[in-house]
Amino acid sequence: MDLHTLRSDMVRDQLQRRGVKDPAVLAAMEQVPREAFVPERLREMSYQDSPLPIGEGQTISQPFIVARMIERLELTPKDKVLEIGTGSGYGAAILSRIADTVYTVERRASLAEAAREKLDKLGYDNIHVVVGDGSLGWPENAPYDAIVGTAGAPKIPEPLKEQLSVGGRLVLPVGTVPEQQVLIRLRKKAEDRFEQEEMEAVRFVPLVGEAGWR
Ligand code: SAH
Repeated sequence: MDLHTLRSDMVRDQLQRRGVKDPAVLAAMEQVPREAFVPERLREMSYQDSPLPIGEGQTISQPFIVARMIERLELTPKDKVLEIGTGSGYGAAILSRIADTVYTVERRASLAEAAREKLDKLGYDNIHVVVGDGSLGWPENAPYDAIVGTAGAPKIPEPLKEQLSVGGRLVLPVGTVPEQQVLIRLRKKAEDRFEQEEMEAVRFVPLVGEAGWR
């Protein structure tokens, strides 16, 4: 089966059919080759409706979840975005097609390195990958118009709230047990005022770090 066709089918059957509407998100999901971010031996499974293992016990998220979370960020083309948990680099690639600049933090050096290599090869040159504890954000480039976390936190890390610009949106899986969360969206209304919404139930790997799980 041709991966191109499978990608278009995924956009229609997994995203549009479940209510993903943002045209920029749909276009990015149609454009970025997910097969480039999954392990070689799983290539034919690239457009399956599920997460896939990428090594080190980590996963590339289900396409629908990637699209849903990014849609929740309400991005514009001039936005500066911070992603916590680079993993395979797929989410960063999607973000980079919609926003102006993407900063992404990964705790595991080998994953960050592999992601950087793939993103370079694909020519996505508005993405900056760093190895570090993303529960502390990436203060040097703050503030961000949007922050998205792809690992589950016990609560919203304070540094991320601080590094969000006024008017900015943060989307993060939050849960009181490490592998089961609810998607939370925070809007920063003023320096010390946030509006919080609870969205769908999700399952992400834990956010391990100083302001995450120990
Ligand atoms: N967005 C990724 C999904 C990766 S899974 C993709 O599209 O493939 C979540 C990732 O978060 C894992 O790679 C894990 O190593 C990473 N992670 C966990 N805790 C972290 C932390 N404190 N800082 C940065 N990355 C973290």
